[in-house]
Amino acid sequence: MPLVGTGSIVDTAVRAGRGVGAFNVIGLEHADGLVAGAERAGLPVVLQISENCVRYHGALEPIARATLARARKSQVPVAVHLDHAESEELVDEAIELGFGSVMFDASKQAYEDNVVRTRAVAARCHDAGIWVEAELGEVGGKDGVHAPGARTDPREAAEYVAATGVDALAVAVGTSHTMLTRDAALDFGLIQRLREALAVPLVLHGSSGVSDEDLGTAIRSGMTKINISTHLNKTFTEAVREVLADNPKLVDPRKYLTAGKDALAAETARLLGVLAG
Ligand SMILES: [Zn+2]
Repeated sequence: MPLVGTGSIVDTAVRAGRGVGAFNVIGLEHADGLVAGAERAGLPVVLQISENCVRYHGALEPIARATLARARKSQVPVAVHLDHAESEELVDEAIELGFGSVMFDASKQAYEDNVVRTRAVAARCHDAGIWVEAELGEVGGKDGVHAPGARTDPREAAEYVAATGVDALAVAVGTSHTMLTRDAALDFGLIQRLREALAVPLVLHGSSGVSDEDLGTAIRSGMTKINISTHLNKTFTEAVREVLADNPKLVDPRKYLTAGKDALAAETARLLGVLAG
């Protein structure tokens, strides 16, 4: 089962009342570890490449082609997603490269500008058969909708989805990005109200800060796509750090990157099991 569209993975999960793991790729080791974990769990996974990751590599194409190639060789369904793209040019490049979906992030824009730009991106993606996620901005909060105090209003969210035609919406329900502890307080009642107000799947960003138990409750309350990056970076880096600390003379990157990759695969398999319920 090779590369698939993100929409097919998410739609199947929505029908089954399950969550979908959407985990971030930084280098080829991450793509390897995430796919190995998904194969071990026998569950699909979405591999995300963020605009920040593109900035790190200096270009989208090399890391995208490597990730897409890894996905095509997978034994479980794997989709490749462009995460937090603020640039329309990057979205167009992802379409050309064969991505399964994009998240267009115009959340820093005023509401009207966000709607106009996101609607145009959604139309272009839909012409190419690509699934689109977007985010509705919130006035105030330096981390936009992902500030811990930010909340998405269900009525405004429904208007936004209708006005833009997007396939999924990232909502603010209590998480924030790059949390190193898993103790975010989620508003489960709001997740339920958003689920009732919207016909499209809900996406939880900043899920690294959410405990296993709360991830399960969030999914039962109506959340579907669960984005996790920082928590898995922590897993990878801690394993590398341990090998380097134990072996001060080690210089072969394959030795310590293998440790990172193996730890990433194990935690990916475990997390996908949690999200599948
Ligand atoms: Zn995010």
